[in-house]
Parts: sequence; structure tokens; C-alpha cells
Amino acid sequence: MVKADVPQLRIVDTPRGPLTYTLTRKRVKNLNLRVGAGGEIMVSLPLRCPVRQADDFVQEKSGWILDAAARRAERQTEPLPPVSREECARLLREALERVYPLVEPLGVAFPALKLRKLKSQWGNCHWAQGYITLNTALARCPEELRDYVALHELVHFLHHDHGPGFYARMDGLMPDWRRRRKALKGCGGALERESIGKV
Ligand SMILES: [Zn+2]
Repeated sequence: MVKADVPQLRIVDTPRGPLTYTLTRKRVKNLNLRVGAGGEIMVSLPLRCPVRQADDFVQEKSGWILDAAARRAERQTEPLPPVSREECARLLREALERVYPLVEPLGVAFPALKLRKLKSQWGNCHWAQGYITLNTALARCPEELRDYVALHELVHFLHHDHGPGFYARMDGLMPDWRRRRKALKGCGGALERESIGKV
């Protein structure tokens, strides 16, 4: 049984390939789909409805949804307003917690999280020491981009470099990661310096 208000990532097959969206069960009357500023796809589903109903809906409307998401992701994204230190820590910790279940079955231990103001990187994985670093600027990027970077760094515990194994794993766990990476490039304004961040 899915609890209310705990967002979960769902993947559905569409004629144009797998589509990832975030599903939240809420006390709402009707199913509600939203495409966020970074191209993230979010569905709110009434508590009484089965999860399959959301999957079916997304599948049925996938052509329209993917077009809308691509349009939004390509647009230069204005950074979200600055947040306090505490809020930043909460947002980035939540991103890590959201995506961790994807790598937990693969034997990755929950890492320590360090936050840094990095100039040219969105994150780092210190796999030998068991921690990851996330750029505090991510707090000003859309949620799905924080999720992408957090997952990218988690996958480095399994594949230390950016070899074919790394990308194959990303494809398996977050099929739309390339779209998110593209959107992240449009989010460079969140970085302290005018540079495009790497992960
Ligand atoms: Zn990397």
C-alpha cells in the first residue's frame, strides 16, 4: 500500500521509450498531471485510486506529455529563489532519500551527504570514503534535476568512472536521465560562476 504524500518514481513504457514520472498519493478529488519548469512530470493521485490508474493515464497521454516536457527542459531555466541553509540541506537530503531505493537492491549503502558550494560541479562521489557531495546550488534547481544528480553520484558507488557500464546502469534506473542532464545545463544560472556544471 502506498502511503499518502510519499512521492515515488514510476516508469512506464511508451511508444517513444520509457517515461519516468513522480507519483504522489494525495487527498485530492481527481488525478492531476503537471509538467514542471525543468520538464519534470508529476502526477497526484487520489488515495482511493489504484496506482495503475496513474500509469495508464501517463501511458495514454505520453505523446503530449513528452512533447511538453521536452519543450520545458530545453528552455533556459531561471534558478529558483535562494533558500536558507536548513532548507537547502533538507531539499538535497530528500533528493538522496527519493532515489536511494533505486540502488539499495544493488547493495549500495546509504552514503553520508556533504554539501558544498562547488564552482563547476553539481556533485561528487567519494566512493572509497562512502560519501557524496552535492552542490548547494542544486537547491535552486527543479526537484527532478536534484534527483538526477543524486542518482548519478549514487551510481558511482557501482561504476566509478563514466564507462559504458555506468551509462547502462543510469538507463536502467532513470531512463530519462539524458533529458534531465540537458535541463541541468539550462540551470547553470544557479551556479556561482557562469559555467556549465559537470557531474
Ligand atoms: Zn559522474
